This record gives sequence, C-alpha cells and structure tokens, in this order.
Amino acid sequence: MPMLKRFCSLLVLTALIAALAPRADASAYDAHPKLVVILVIDQFREDYLQRYRADFKPKGFRLFLDHGAYFPDCYYGYSNLLTAPGHSTVGTGAYTDGHGIGSNQWWDLDRNKDRPVTSVEDERYAIVGMPAGSETGPGRSPRSLLASTVGDELRLDTKGEAKVFGISLKDRAAILPAGATANGAFWVDESTGRYETSTYYMPQLPDWATAFNASGRLDQAKQEASLPDTKNFEGEVGGTPAGITYELDFAKALITGEQLGKHDVTDMLTLSISGTDILGHRVGPDADEQRLIVDALDTDLDSFFSWLDKNIEGGLGNVWIAVTADHGVAPSPATAAQLGMNAAQIDTNKLVSELNDAMNQKFSPGEKVVYVLPKQELPYLSLNRPSFERAGINEQEAEQAVLDALPAAFDSLTKPSDAKLPAQSKLPPRPVLYRSYTRLQLAAGELPHTPFGDLLAHSYTSNGGWYVRVVPAAFQMGLMKNNGTTHFSPYSYDRHVPLGFYGAPFTTGIYHGRVEPVDLAATFASLLGVNQPSASVGHILTQSLKPASEVTYPKPVPVRAHRGTRSAARGVAEKPATEKAPAKTSSEKPQP
Ligand SMILES: [Zn+2]
Repeated sequence: MPMLKRFCSLLVLTALIAALAPRADASAYDAHPKLVVILVIDQFREDYLQRYRADFKPKGFRLFLDHGAYFPDCYYGYSNLLTAPGHSTVGTGAYTDGHGIGSNQWWDLDRNKDRPVTSVEDERYAIVGMPAGSETGPGRSPRSLLASTVGDELRLDTKGEAKVFGISLKDRAAILPAGATANGAFWVDESTGRYETSTYYMPQLPDWATAFNASGRLDQAKQEASLPDTKNFEGEVGGTPAGITYELDFAKALITGEQLGKHDVTDMLTLSISGTDILGHRVGPDADEQRLIVDALDTDLDSFFSWLDKNIEGGLGNVWIAVTADHGVAPSPATAAQLGMNAAQIDTNKLVSELNDAMNQKFSPGEKVVYVLPKQELPYLSLNRPSFERAGINEQEAEQAVLDALPAAFDSLTKPSDAKLPAQSKLPPRPVLYRSYTRLQLAAGELPHTPFGDLLAHSYTSNGGWYVRVVPAAFQMGLMKNNGTTHFSPYSYDRHVPLGFYGAPFTTGIYHGRVEPVDLAATFASLLGVNQPSASVGHILTQSLKPASEVTYPKPVPVRAHRGTRSAARGVAEKPATEKAPAKTSSEKPQP
C-alpha cells in the first residue's frame, strides 16, 4: 500500500522536523508558552505601583517590576476612559474608533425606549447558572464589539484548539477582553455573587463552575467581608479584599476544570480584577483604604502566581503574564480642590434641564418636550431624536443647537457671587466647559490636528444615536457623593496605567518612554505567531524582547495525570481550588 507508506514516512518526517526545530521557532502552535494570562486591574493608576512599591511581596507586582519588562509611562491614546471601552482596547489593541465600544451603556431607542442599554446586554440570549425562577434580566454577549481580540486570533489560527476564557466580577470586563470566539466568560450575579455566564457561550455551567457555586466559597467571602447578609454582593463584598480572593479562587477553579495549559497549543485567560474600581469610586485614589486594597491585591497575586508555578506544566517559565488597567482615575474633587485645583463637580441633571429649557425656547415655546435624554453618563449627552424630528429638525441642526446652548448651560451651574469686593480667600471651584463636539463633527473628523484632536478622533463611536460630546476642564466630573470620584476624561490621570510583562521572551528591565495599552495585544500576537487583532493599532514592544535564539522554555513535566482527553476537557469535574491566600491581619483588611 504505497499511499499509506508514503503517508507514514511523511508523519515520521514531520515528527523529526518538529523535534529538531530550534526553540527560536517556539509559538502558540507548539504550546510555547502553555498559558497566557492577561491581567486587567479595574481603575488602577500607574502611580500606585510607584507609591506603594515598598509594601509589595516578592511575587506579586514585583514579578513585573523586578523580574519582568515594565513600562511605567503607559497612557491610553483615546479620551473616553471607561470600563467597557478600556477592556475592549486591552483585548483588541484598538481604540473606540476601531472596536466600537464607546461607553458602559448608551441610549439605543430602537432597542429600549426606557433606559440606556449596556455594552454587553443581549436580549437574544439568556443568563446561565442562576437557580430556576431567579430574576436575571437579558443574556449577555460581545454583540457590540466590532473587532477581534488577540484571544480570537489565537482561536482562529489554531482552528479552535486553543482555549480562551474571560473572568471578572463584572460582565463587561469578563466578556469584552476575551472576544467573540471565547470558549466562555464568567462574571457574578450582582446581588447574590454566584458565578454565571450566558447562552451565547454554553447552555449550562460546566460542572467545575456549578461545584464552585455550591462549595460554600461564596458564603466564606461574605463572612470574610463581614457582610454575611448582603443583597448587593458586587457593590459591597466586591469592593473588599475578600471579593478579590473570591475572584482569584474562581480563576484557579477554571484553570483546573478546563485544564488550561495542558493542551497541544497555547491557552489564554483574561482576568479582570474589579475590587479596586468598586472601592476606588467610593474613596478615591489617595485614601488609606485604597492603599490597603492595592496591598491586599498584591498579596493575592503573590499567592496566585505561586499557584500557577505549581500547577502549570513546567511552572511559571511556561506562562506569559501581562498586567495593565482599563483606566486610571481622577483625585477626589474635594482633595484636589483643597490643594488648589479647579475641581468642580458638574450637576448633570441640572445641565440637561437647562439644555431642555433652551431647546424648548427655540423649537417649541411654552412646551416641555424632552430633547436631551435623562440618565446621562459623561462625556456623552444623548439627544432624543424623535422629539427633534417631530419639530422638523435634522441631526446637524439638533446637535448644533445643543452645542450652542452648552456654554450658557455650564455658566448657569455656577452660583453667582454677589460680593462686590475682591475675595479674601480662594473662591470655590466652578464648572468650565473646555470643548464640545457634535457626533457629526466627530464622524467627519472635524477636529484639531493636534494630539488632543487625536485623542477625540480615537473615541468616535456611532453607538448612542445623536449625541454631543462634552469635555469639561481637567479635574472636573459629574456630582459624586461623599469623597467619591470617577474617570471618563482625556486627561492624563484617567489615561495613565501600568503595562508589565513576565515571561520567557522578555528582557528584565524598566523601560521609560511612552507606550500604550494597545501595544499589549500587538506584542502578544507577534510572539504567539498569530495575526494581530482585526483593528489593532498597537506597536510591538521590541525594546523589551530577547533575541529569539535566547528564549528557552522549561520541559513541560506533567504535574498530574491527564484526566480524560482534550475533547472531554469541558465538564471534567475536579475539586474546585479554594485554597485561601495567606491569612491577612485585620489591620490589612479595609471594610468600606
Ligand atoms: Zn473600569
């Protein structure tokens, strides 16, 4: 049978070539590395790692700072610094003008006339993993994400052999960085804290996830946070160190249950840590509580990376890890104002009401038509298209009318001072409108040819219907309760995030000079030997890469017997990993 013989010798030859292939050719196709972890820390400004460096454990953040390639000058190159766009950018290596996600939620009157729709809600699917009869709302999917992620390219180039998963407490932060082809994305039900997914990915939870939900780990997290009866798991437990440890334990259960790092090609996990953002909005970046949660995260990462070292074949030498954030954050307005910044808070409801008065005066005197929609999230102000159309106004006229009314509406937010004499001390901060643009101006690229204009151009999205884009002056934001703060602006404090890599191809060092989070996906695509994501604009960080001939990987010694074949990997029930991180003293555990 000459055909069979030829086929067999071809196989032998292929095997020989594979055995002789130099390490320099290592790539995703021969499982070098075994696993890639993309760690996104929600609301994590780069200067945290400088300020609190002395606090850190040897294998937490120091893995990147002391043993990896670390870029302290990483700034986002767009201007809508929010969670859904930021996570999309990390995965796709593109900005909003490439991946389409402009905000966490936006008005889409064709889909919902009562409220904005979120970036990942999808009424065509259902939530998976909640007990029968629970109120779950619509399913979720990456339907609005227009670009592929580096995980998608890994899946496409390995014909689906590579496993790619996304995890977070937040749905958008689990779904968007992983991408459309992900094998699964998991997040928690906001009120109960149970891990769930969507029928977009699978009809039921894998056995290991069901076991995790039933393991008592959830109650343990609530106990650790001293919130045993909470009905708001994500908002309350989510903002404590206990919420972070809970999330990382779920990640271990997934890696074990899905046998990540045990396949013939490279696997990938995107892991978004939510606790820093949930607490950060409440207390601001300069609060002692925020330092404590950063330190608790470091302790947890030290433990998680040590766990990977023990549980991935060949240890951490067979893993690449990247760390970055979806956005930074502004100092709390009160703190910044105290030091002299004009850190005013903008009453968005009053602003919208002033704009509606102005539109009624112009287009329907004596009436109370809603021209500007409620429930607005800066930097966008969405218009009520049907109201304008009833008045015979087109998009260009409508957006221009709102744009023209904005300066007076902003001025009305400042309480007039009746003092006729020079002030004897610094006046309180007042809202200042720096710039504003119509959607049509942004779509046509009618922007200044400056770095600032580029930031706005990269933020263009067609989502949100008719809108006007507002840029208040630096350090200003919508009204925040207590000493809270937020992020959404083109300013450096919102754009500055860490970018660090650990893994065999990287030369240890601190690399100063501007880089961008889009470089993460481009660099990993290059090293994995796959196509860059479809809209990628990132650069490959060649300054930190070893010559290919110097990149070596440990021989992957199996750490435990394989259980079942690769095709049976999903659904293999293993005991969920629920080891606790080293005990923290009570003084290290803030309770917001
Ligand atoms: Zn965020």
